[in-house]
Amino acid sequence: MGDKSVGFVGLGIMGKPMARNLMAAGYSLTVYDVVGSAMEELVTEGAAGAASAREAAEASSVTITMVPDSPQSEAAILGPDGVLEGTPKGNGIIDMSSIAPGTSQKIGAACDAAGVAFLDAPVSGGEPKAIDGTLAIMVGGNQEAFDTYTGLLDVLGGSIVLCGGYGAGNTTKLVNQIIVAINVEAVSEGLVLARKAGLDPSVVYEAIKGGLAGSTVLDAKGTMMIAGDFNPGFRVKLHQKDLNNALITGKELGVPLPVTALVQQMLGSLMNDGKGDHDHAAIANFIEDMAGITIAEG
Ligand code: NAD
Repeated sequence: MGDKSVGFVGLGIMGKPMARNLMAAGYSLTVYDVVGSAMEELVTEGAAGAASAREAAEASSVTITMVPDSPQSEAAILGPDGVLEGTPKGNGIIDMSSIAPGTSQKIGAACDAAGVAFLDAPVSGGEPKAIDGTLAIMVGGNQEAFDTYTGLLDVLGGSIVLCGGYGAGNTTKLVNQIIVAINVEAVSEGLVLARKAGLDPSVVYEAIKGGLAGSTVLDAKGTMMIAGDFNPGFRVKLHQKDLNNALITGKELGVPLPVTALVQQMLGSLMNDGKGDHDHAAIANFIEDMAGITIAEG
């Protein structure tokens, strides 16, 4: 990339610490969020605030977007006053949001037509790895753009893998989200059973974490369930969105995803229960309610 100027659009749970890490690594940031107050902290810490996504892009040689889903990525990049409008030929856009692969392909084609480099580069690892700069980054796009922006992505990630052309990053992310969701549900069922059997779930966790049931999900989410802590983290509504995108993609490809569909319904039910903004560890609440106990308190 040319200079070290980066636009950053979408400063939520993930975007804020990612932007902060780029500033700490010496990049100069121009930030934008539709919610003005989301920019305040970073501006206090030295970022420039922009009045639109277009303005953030105009001030930068590459612009990163980190927004909730496909409609927001489309609006932020392709919409009026969006990133693409403010990106001159030869500069780049990296969408790190988790969105439908087909939308990434649409955005990639629009960028190609404008002579702008594009990567879809969703992440896994949640807020803790966003803060540590150790996210797993799965990338779609061409090799040249990947090579241009690897140094930048290195600041944010512990692993960066080019998975294929436009949309391949987000297809890989759907694979990740299926595996995580079903693992969270399995941890929920196991810990509810432990509690109802009269065991201490934290002792059960200690006993099994080093065996085959051990997982990053068990460590990160099992411990939240045991503490009764459902502050996000990764919101129920975002995981419901990801599994919906997985089911649509499965349908397009003729791949049945029966257990994914079941967990997607559980997440939808939690949203109806007013828990859309809770951490996805709240999948445990669905199982707890059916069993008539809680993992945290019995
Ligand atoms: P969030 O809801 O905390 O933040 C999203 C931000 O985007 C908000 O500040 C919102 O105001 C802003 N925004 C929405 N539309 C916009 C637009 N058109 N222009 C500018 N800003 C806009 O969400 P998050 O948890 O930070 O997640 C962001 C993305 O990262 C999602 O796609 C999510 O699925 C993915 N992700 C999240 C996690 C996690 O643990 N939170 C982990 C991996 C991936």
